[in-house]
Amino acid sequence: MTDLRDLLTHAASRAADHRARTAEQPVFPPSLDLEAMRMALGALPDRPTPALEVVDQLADIVEPGLVATTGPRYFGFVVGGTLDAASAADVLTTGWDQPAFNAVTSPAAALVEDVTGGWLKELLGLPGAASFGFVTGGQAANTVALAAARHQVLAAAGWDVELRGLLGGPSVRVVANGERHATIDRSLRLLGLGAGVLEPVATDNQGAIDVADLGRVLAQRPAGPTIVCLQAGNVNSGAFDDFATASAIAHEHGAWVHIDGAFGLWAAASAATRHLTAGIDGADSWATDGHKWLNVPYDSGYVFCAHRQAHANAMSFTAAYLTGHGQGGGLRSPADYVLESSRRARGFATWAALRQLGRAGVADLVDRCCALARRFAEQLSEVDGVHVENDVVLNQVLVGFGRDDETDRVVDTVQRSGECWMGATTWHGRRLMRISVSNWRTTEADVDRSVAAIVAALSKT
Ligand SMILES: *Cc1c(COP(=O)(O)O)cnc(C)c1O
Repeated sequence: MTDLRDLLTHAASRAADHRARTAEQPVFPPSLDLEAMRMALGALPDRPTPALEVVDQLADIVEPGLVATTGPRYFGFVVGGTLDAASAADVLTTGWDQPAFNAVTSPAAALVEDVTGGWLKELLGLPGAASFGFVTGGQAANTVALAAARHQVLAAAGWDVELRGLLGGPSVRVVANGERHATIDRSLRLLGLGAGVLEPVATDNQGAIDVADLGRVLAQRPAGPTIVCLQAGNVNSGAFDDFATASAIAHEHGAWVHIDGAFGLWAAASAATRHLTAGIDGADSWATDGHKWLNVPYDSGYVFCAHRQAHANAMSFTAAYLTGHGQGGGLRSPADYVLESSRRARGFATWAALRQLGRAGVADLVDRCCALARRFAEQLSEVDGVHVENDVVLNQVLVGFGRDDETDRVVDTVQRSGECWMGATTWHGRRLMRISVSNWRTTEADVDRSVAAIVAALSKT
């Protein structure tokens, strides 16, 4: 029998070995044999296996299929990386295994979320009185925020949606940036509103909402239960909506304003990019991720709501009058603000990330990623036949290589090179390489090396 101490140490050391390799190994596994891996994973075993053997088997079998998403040259999607203190805190979280339901199941987990939620609001420039929940990611944050919105706009129309559901109730309008993230649509499906309810608003050439069109769309029908979804950080270009103007127009129509800022909201944490988020504090709810730009391990997202009672009424499954109740010295119950009941104690890793970085470190992380994105843009726009297609205002760079099929070929060649990894997207009718810089480990040398890989792919036919 292996001692638990030895076992956890061993597991942690295998994880650290992997992490160390991610700077040099091919970013995407070069010879992936999923069938062999499936065979090795085997059939449901009849008999037990000693724990240490289990850990080694798992690591041996799956490591060849891991992607170096925590490495410095992974630029796909917006995956972030993971800070050392946050990774280690997540190991502690696993060891402690606290059910972070409320202050009775884990006073420590409830308190840490309480403290850390306050830190996040300060850092992101959100109202100090806003309620918050530590959720699994941006999808969950959007869902919770829109549930609170659904509650509030229907309550204002005299309809108790938690009790009566949507059938027979007043209709709800949802008006959103035409380039919203697809998770908004899924949240609307889950909330029973249906993705078809969405009324898209035109965007400018960077994907930011056209505020005149927002006014026009809203004016098409008389005021009633309405939710407006804005975006901080267009998923392709990184563009920001004009929050002050859009919120003012939406509020004139009595609408609830939600801002999806899965990665873009972090612009508020740096003096250099804060102007992009001007006016966010006038919204009614906000969604962002920890596991993207804050570099906290998966699963980590945050939802904030300017209307604490709407948030709790929509999510709590005790009773509205019990929110903020006296259990555990008056500590809020984390589970009243999220989708899950029994849940991982997500506050620890976020506390550790913010403690490791401090305000200055978060600002520096944001600034460095933005500077590296500009470095990509500057170097790539010097190359013949290569065009940067967006205004690089944040950490996103969209690159065209002439014809769509040539762009897809270049992206595919770069991905196969193992030097770096970036995805492709379709934006404004064209295929483009999508580069996202969101990992604390990425350096100027990593950008230069990745540009060289792109240039090499370009000349390879
Ligand atoms: C990533 C993203 C989401 C979804 O977040 P998850 O953490 O993947 O659930 C929502 N909105 C935007 C703008 C995103 O970039």
